[in-house]
Amino acid sequence: MAETSAQTKRVISDKYRASHEDDQSTLAAALDRGLSGTSDTVSDYEAALRGYFSHRNAIAISSGGAAITVALVAAGVKAGDEVVLTPTCPLCTVYPVMDMGAKPVFVDTRPDGFGVDLADLERVVTKKTRAIIEIPMWGMPTQVDELQKAARKAGIPLILDLAHSHGSTLHGRSLSAYGDLSCYSTHERKPLATGEGGFILTDNDDLAKRCRDYSRFGNLNGRDFGLNFKLGALAAALGTNRIKYLDRQLEARRKNAERFLSQLKHPSVREFTRIEGGKHNYYFLTLRTSFANNRRFIDYLDDHGVPSDIKRYGCRCLYDFPAVEQYRRPCPNGERLLNSMTTIPVHPALSGDDMDYMVGLINAYREG
Ligand SMILES: *Cc1c(COP(=O)(O)O)cnc(C)c1O
Repeated sequence: MAETSAQTKRVISDKYRASHEDDQSTLAAALDRGLSGTSDTVSDYEAALRGYFSHRNAIAISSGGAAITVALVAAGVKAGDEVVLTPTCPLCTVYPVMDMGAKPVFVDTRPDGFGVDLADLERVVTKKTRAIIEIPMWGMPTQVDELQKAARKAGIPLILDLAHSHGSTLHGRSLSAYGDLSCYSTHERKPLATGEGGFILTDNDDLAKRCRDYSRFGNLNGRDFGLNFKLGALAAALGTNRIKYLDRQLEARRKNAERFLSQLKHPSVREFTRIEGGKHNYYFLTLRTSFANNRRFIDYLDDHGVPSDIKRYGCRCLYDFPAVEQYRRPCPNGERLLNSMTTIPVHPALSGDDMDYMVGLINAYREG
């Protein structure tokens, strides 16, 4: 038996399932209270979110995708309006825009990261632009402070899709502090996980009220239109419990990333350029490569049991997917980014030995 398992291919899992000793008792206690999206359990969760992220308002929402829909409505986006976003994000961010009948307008990323390129932003903004969405991928901070200034100057609401970025900061503040509306997902694979779920953070009370009203059927007053995007109480209870452990989780991620990076020696592989004042939550460690054939490098890692989000999700600029093709606007920086990178899992269930294995594989890789 031992010999068989020694021959089994080593596989590194990119799935992390948080589990805490008090999750079960938390859920059991929640069952004794109201279970709907307007229950005290959900209000308690919103209070915990306000506390952790230091915001005036938190609105619990049924998913990260729904949070984007609600934020777009709150920002005043209507059918026929234009919404500017980078094309290097998942389909989850652009589908809500398309669903509203608004037009996604792609803006290029910076050459060395996933933030909006400000010169290109000036080219794409028109009188019809009603919102800008920035998506810091894999939790890596982007220059949200500079984008916030540009958006304010143009008088356009800034929505941040922070589905990957719980706990990522810039100049000591949550990335969400720089958006008018910041959307998070708590899907099972995200750093704060409640199964399905999401939330919106904002310091603007008026925008918060619009989010709350729209996601709760316009409070059924028959005057304000809305739909049901409420989060149920059981997911909220789990979220309240798990926020307590989030910093500990992120610290374990950081340790794994640092151990890996301290040994990385391959001349064609490096960490993405860190922006000044930024602190990464290491949802994934992202590596920049300079291989003639990056796909071959990713396949090599995959063959040795190291998965890449680039391969798992077939990451490419959104306008290269058939469903989004009609909005094609070539973004050469974004294309280059996705074609010269990979992701490395560093979640807390991985050991130091797992880190050493992955970095050893990379250091041993030879092109051609
Ligand atoms: C996961 C994700 C979403 C969607 O979140 P759900 O909770 O699955 O609806 C949106 N944007 C990004 C960047 C994501 O990673």
